[in-house]
Amino acid sequence: MGDDAGPVVAYEEVTAAEFGVRAARTFTVEQVEPGVLLLGGPCPRCDAVISIPIFDRVFRYGGGSAGEKAPRYETVVCTCDEPHPGRPESRVGCGAFWAIGLREGPS
Ligand SMILES: [Zn+2]
Ligand SMILES: [Zn+2]
Repeated sequence: MGDDAGPVVAYEEVTAAEFGVRAARTFTVEQVEPGVLLLGGPCPRCDAVISIPIFDRVFRYGGGSAGEKAPRYETVVCTCDEPHPGRPESRVGCGAFWAIGLREGPS
């Protein structure tokens, strides 16, 4: 009590529906080069700003038969380099992961 340095987020591999909801509002997506998207924004669990490259495999699927465009879902994992107690040395981030939907083209 009385310590207002902010809550310490311990490393924990967790997901929650609200992570995806928050990230959908706050993350930006930019295409940095053909086939590579860069997601950027604050982690919905620990608030560290992270950026995550997504390699858009859609461009390699040339021979698809269906013409429909369904949103693609990618699993995003927090990759911050802040210290989180309990994190294995081989890991980064706070352990949070969530799914984001990517739609192609303007909506
Ligand atoms: Zn995080
Ligand atoms: Zn973090």
